[in-house]
Order: sequence, then C-alpha cells, then structure tokens
Amino acid sequence: FDMFVLAFVERLFRPTYKKDDFVLGKKLGEGSFGVVYRVSLANKPSSKEGDLVLKKATEYGAVEIWMNERVRRACASSCADFVYGFLESSSKKAAEYWLIWRFEGDATLADLMQSRDFPYNVETLILGEVQDLPKGLERENRIIQTIMRQILFALDGLHSTGIVHRDIKPQNVIFSEESRTFKIIDLGAATDLRVGINYIPKEFLLDPRYAAPEQYIMSTQTPSAPSVPVATALSPVLWQLNLPDRFDIYSAGLIFLQMAFPSLRSDNSLIQFNRQLKRCDYDLVAWRKTAEARSELRKGFELLDLDGGIGWELLKSMVRYKARQRLSAKAALAHPYFVREGLLALSFMQ
Ligand code: ADP
Ligand code: MG
Repeated sequence: FDMFVLAFVERLFRPTYKKDDFVLGKKLGEGSFGVVYRVSLANKPSSKEGDLVLKKATEYGAVEIWMNERVRRACASSCADFVYGFLESSSKKAAEYWLIWRFEGDATLADLMQSRDFPYNVETLILGEVQDLPKGLERENRIIQTIMRQILFALDGLHSTGIVHRDIKPQNVIFSEESRTFKIIDLGAATDLRVGINYIPKEFLLDPRYAAPEQYIMSTQTPSAPSVPVATALSPVLWQLNLPDRFDIYSAGLIFLQMAFPSLRSDNSLIQFNRQLKRCDYDLVAWRKTAEARSELRKGFELLDLDGGIGWELLKSMVRYKARQRLSAKAALAHPYFVREGLLALSFMQ
C-alpha cells in the first residue's frame, strides 16, 4: 500500500476544524511567533478547561504544521499529539495559522525542574505513587536517567525521520499525563533536511541558552537551500556530512547538566555556565577543573561520578564543541549510563 494513499485516506477520515469550533481558555504561552491557549470544542464542552491546545502562529506556522503532520505519521510518540492545522484568514487581521494538539498535561520539564522537590516530583508522575526507598543520590540519578532516556528516545524518533528540532530545552519538553512520559513540543524552529523544508537556518530563531556553538545547522559551505520539497536523494549525504542532528544533542546535554546540578537550573546560571565553558574552549574537563572547588556544584559532580563516572562520561560525549564528536541520540541510548543495570546484573552473574 502506497504511503501517499495511506496519508490521503487518513486525512480524509480525520475530522477537520475551523475557527468557530473552538472556545478559548487560559493562555499557556506567548512567544514572538505565536500565542498558545488551552481550548475546548464548542460542540463538546466535555472538560471545563479544555482537552486541546491551540497555537495561533504567524508565517512560521505553515512549517510547524508540516512538521507536525510528518511527526504524526513517522514518529508519533516523540511529540505531543497533533490534531489538526489550518490557515485562518477569515478575520481582517493578517492570516494566522492555527495548530491544534491534544492537551498533554500541565507541566513542562522546566516547570518540574523549578520545584525544590525535583527530581522526586517527576518520579511520582512517572510511577504514579510515592516510593518509600530512601532519598539520595542513587535514586535521583535513576530518575534523571529515566528522563534523559525518554528525551533521547523522542529525539531519536525525530532524527530518524530526518527532523532536527533546533529548540530543545526544558520549556519544550512536556510531561504527557496519559503516557506518563516526556514528549517534545514546539516544532516551530524545526527543519526537515530530507525534503528540504525550512532548510535555510533561521539562526535568529535559536535560543542562545541551549544552542550548540555551531549555531548554523549546516555548514555555511552548503549550497544555498531549496525551500520546496526537492533534493530528497541529496539530503542524506548532507546529513552524513554535517550531522545536523548533533545540534539537538548538545541542547539535550545541557538539560542533563541542569538536572544534575541544581545550581545551574536558573537562566542566569546557565548563561554564566555557557560563558565559562566558552572560556574553556568548550572543554568540559577544563571547566570541571575550574569549578571542582565550588561547593554548590559538588552534589552534581557526585551524581555524575556514580558507577565509575558513567554519567559524567555521557555528559562529556554530548556537550562537545565539534558536532561529529557528539554521540547521536541512538548511540547515546546505548551508552553504559543507560544500560548500567544490565551491566551490573552481568557482572553479578560472573
Ligand atoms: P512557543 O512558541 O510559545 O514556545 P510552545 O509550542 O512551546 O510555543 O507552547 C507554549 C507552551 O504551551 C508550552 O511551554 C507548554 O506549557 C504549553 N503547551 C504547548 N503544547 C502543549 C500540549 N500539547 N499540551 C499541554 N501544554 C502545551
Ligand atoms: Mg516553546
């Protein structure tokens, strides 16, 4: 069965919506490229607050709809459940793109990381119950490991589909209450290299707090890009050449860092960290030498040093200056940091 026929049939049987179908609820966010609301269906006011999320987006909404459609077909579990997207041009204002998702839950990873109780608040969400194991580094490390595994799993899905997110940060990672896992949101800055959509890097879209040093996804040597779906055969080559997916890996590494070090969770401290790391030529080992004595960082180093420093090893192989020296999402998932329990079991059996 042909993929296009499948996509067409799927599209045919999916409900379509228009502006008047929605009742606006609480505003969830507002960026430079759109406003996000919680909404419900006008003819089905089942829940008071609304089961859906609406983003009213500017011109970049077209790309975001395209990316979400693609994710839905290729790697649905990586991102928030996309329902529908359309061009809303009935009003006198400039045309807006409306994007609808299922409401996944109240908390982004950023919200959860702000709590003093992090990462235990996440453990409760994932397991749905309170553990009576003693609190401590080992347990915190296990929770952080689970969160990192879920983020990398979602990234692997996107990257295998040919999509680079380019805006990976705790604010764009949402806890899905239904699946009890973290999912990625906000494909507004994403790029799809296999078909050349949004291929020209919009570096002004990038969040400097989490952006990898290269900034530009593809090297500036790359011939200027097509803006319509072409070059499907060429793109995998460029992908191999430039490893644009590693941009997201750097950002995910910074999330790992912030989870391990409570004192690096605020925006200001992350900005400061970035400055220090740059001064160390992006060498984490050199940074550690300058930071080892800082008492507010001790706990983070201790956590990463557990099990022979396997966490520190993973962090080092994600936060690296050169994209090609960073692990891919798939390789990171196979890193001993995540298979530690298996390894321990093996060594026990020997
Ligand atoms: P922006 O371009 O404003 O960053 P996002 O897509 O990141 O837009 O959405 C803004 C905020 O809205 C998110 O940080 C999150 O709190 C909330 N949000 C977005 N999508 C969902 C969803 N599917 N379920 C629940 N909340 C969501
Ligand atoms: Mg966002």
